[in-house]
Amino acid sequence: CMAASCQSSGAAPVLDALVAGLGDSKPSCKVKGVGCMGLCSAGPLVSIADREASLEESTIYRDVTADDAADIIASLDGPPVERLRCPTDQPFFARQQKIVLENAGIIDPDSFKGYVAVGGYSALIRALSEMTPADVLREVTDSGLRGRGGGGYPTGLKWSTVAKMPATQKYVICNADEGDPGAFMDRAILESDPHRVLEGMAIAAYAIGANKAYVYVRAEYPLAVERLQTAIRKAKRSGFLGNKIGDTQFSLEVEIRLGAGAFVCGEETALMASIEGLRGQPRPRPPYPAESGLWGHPTLINNVETFANIAPIVREGGNWFASIGTERSKGTKVFALAGTITNTGLIEVPMGTSLRDIIEVIGGGIPGGKAFKAVQTGGPSGGCIPAQHLDIAVDYDSLKTLGTMMGSGGMIVMDETSSMVDVARYFMEFCMTESCGKCIPCRTGTQQMHSILDRLAKAQATRAELALLEELCEVVQATSLCGLGQTAPNPVLSTMRYFRDEYEAKLGDA
Ligand code: SF4
Repeated sequence: CMAASCQSSGAAPVLDALVAGLGDSKPSCKVKGVGCMGLCSAGPLVSIADREASLEESTIYRDVTADDAADIIASLDGPPVERLRCPTDQPFFARQQKIVLENAGIIDPDSFKGYVAVGGYSALIRALSEMTPADVLREVTDSGLRGRGGGGYPTGLKWSTVAKMPATQKYVICNADEGDPGAFMDRAILESDPHRVLEGMAIAAYAIGANKAYVYVRAEYPLAVERLQTAIRKAKRSGFLGNKIGDTQFSLEVEIRLGAGAFVCGEETALMASIEGLRGQPRPRPPYPAESGLWGHPTLINNVETFANIAPIVREGGNWFASIGTERSKGTKVFALAGTITNTGLIEVPMGTSLRDIIEVIGGGIPGGKAFKAVQTGGPSGGCIPAQHLDIAVDYDSLKTLGTMMGSGGMIVMDETSSMVDVARYFMEFCMTESCGKCIPCRTGTQQMHSILDRLAKAQATRAELALLEELCEVVQATSLCGLGQTAPNPVLSTMRYFRDEYEAKLGDA
């Protein structure tokens, strides 16, 4: 695995040692760097696979060092190296269902041929040669796919709205400005399978009538940017991007725009302002980007994971996709597991999988024999879910009933030692720091809330201040201009809802 997490634990020397050790000794055996296999906590990972076999069908080795290369090479003619073995029949692998990540950890993300070998770009060819834009819109609508960036807006409806706009210039934007603490789904997708995202964007552009697209990606994701650049160059050279794709009149230019690390630029109107070269601050809506977006033109914005779902939908049909998941949340969802959980990493499960399955079975539970306390979903816009709700089926609507949200897919797991006041203070500090300052409720409200939370954490706040904190939550939620401010109080509200006793215990005048 040559994704960022395995590289950070020393994958590059392992790859070099395997290449050098193998030399020309086995012409039928090839060493290649692949994208994320998911089990980041066990990296560096090495899989021995027969061509493009799935991870479950492969032999996977964990915590590999360069010194292990000789034993791994020797195992090609004999039994596996048991001391390095990472069982692939364990729930972490066996309980997942992969659509978005089906190529991750299997193909070389820098190889155009590798992507084509697993059916890559066949959906775009099908769309262009056998389907009208209306056919594509119908499949995406039938699939029931909802935006994976957090809001869960129906993708087919969004696409159809932009398609209906009578404009000669339209844009497609891929939002890769992933900023939630603990979230790394989009980074891993781009690092593992960048062509999949480009293929989804090209299909979207064909469906809505756009000829220009942007990927807005964080500059802090250098490996993702590099692989995306390579993918754009190779797709263009192979005739899948650029002028007159295939035998059609359809053209699409894709450019990368680097975000400079402002969390608020993940908000779509701020993101567009940033692409336009302006300060990345949100604008009031309406008008919505679908009507008047980039430079005033109709614009379709979806996030990385949403676009990564498109090729399979076109290939297999919207009804196939709609058969997976729950009544109102179709397909699968990629989650990043972080915090105090045994198997930190990236997983993909059908919508409706219980939180208990995700954390205790696939995630392997809490390490060190400690008890589970809560999981934060939805990043700084979401909330905490306590142990009594672990059996909830995870989808867009169920999480809202608990006062949190799906968000983009980050899950931060906390054990019994976590202070929920500290957790609320951390997320409020994040929102305060990232507030763009355009509107007063968010700019000043997050500072005031943070100040009270800080005093609470130090056992200095009074009951009157706690009441003020609750009042501020309501005001900031109701009056802020954009989602950052509107949702900033959520972690406070949800921790108060489930762990009120911890707030009470911290009162200085209790
Ligand atoms: Fe900026 Fe916060 Fe207002 Fe959004 S809510 S516009 S981030 S100050």
